[in-house]
Amino acid sequence: MVVFAYAGQSLNRANVPQREGVKMSDEVIRSDKEWKELLTPLQYKITRKKGTEAAFTGKYHDFKGQGLYQCLCCGNELFSSQTKFDSGTGWPSFSDVIAEDRIEKIPDHSLLMTRTEAACYRCGAHLGHVFNDGPKPTGLRYCINSAALKFAVGNKKSQTATFAAGCFWGVEAAFRKIEGVNSTAVGYSGGDFRDPMYQDVCSGKTGHAEAVEVMYDPEKVTYEKLLKAFWNMHDPTTANRQGPDFGSQYRSAIFFHNDKQQKAAIKSRDEFQANLNRPIVTEIVPVTVFYKAEEYHQRYLEKRGAKTCGP
Ligand SMILES: [Zn+2]
Repeated sequence: MVVFAYAGQSLNRANVPQREGVKMSDEVIRSDKEWKELLTPLQYKITRKKGTEAAFTGKYHDFKGQGLYQCLCCGNELFSSQTKFDSGTGWPSFSDVIAEDRIEKIPDHSLLMTRTEAACYRCGAHLGHVFNDGPKPTGLRYCINSAALKFAVGNKKSQTATFAAGCFWGVEAAFRKIEGVNSTAVGYSGGDFRDPMYQDVCSGKTGHAEAVEVMYDPEKVTYEKLLKAFWNMHDPTTANRQGPDFGSQYRSAIFFHNDKQQKAAIKSRDEFQANLNRPIVTEIVPVTVFYKAEEYHQRYLEKRGAKTCGP
């Protein structure tokens, strides 16, 4: 089955990009009778019979919790609260998925319209539709039925860490390999230039660093472990420079989100410094606005099957 993918290429089950070290979701196949038994009548109608809940009636359209949204039917992690936005439509709306292999996009010609259906890649559940009128940088609006989702609570807590360590493509790829990292986004932070584009940041005049926002499950990976990975993935002793990339946008920085992170970052820096001859120049500063980068920068190396930023 041919499926739409917004990166401009078509995806099907055989060539969906696989995250390194992560097994692609196993398919969940159940009979119609089994689904009927497992789900409430409303959940069944929506997820298995492509139904739609009435606007403003679902439990997540106005919900603002921080965490992950899973497929109700199979637990597949689909959306992060980071990308949820208020669309005013009465349905939960997201501008992006956690990873491209989570959702299948299928042309839907029902109701005398041409729309794109969003279905769970693992179990085929109907989730809702995807429209092209979402916010930047994806421009997409995943309009999803609350009844098809399960918000991940309890041990699925999610916390955010933000780092800059040179070209964000490689930094993002390195963090995504760590178990317990639920989702990532690359963007621009630390400067004072509103809504920057990549070209603006490349000029080195925006004050922004290329940064990566990491959402992680603190029960699976600690902030300290993320810090350790951060020190080891770049050279924190070169001011405004990583290898061939130079300019303040490539500076090394830890953008902490709370006092606990600040203390852990300082402690970790001092420990790592003991192994080095030159002083660490990494900034440890409070996080400010994080401007998500253009879609083509997100999971850049993963989309290209590349291992490093180099040519
Ligand atoms: Zn599913």
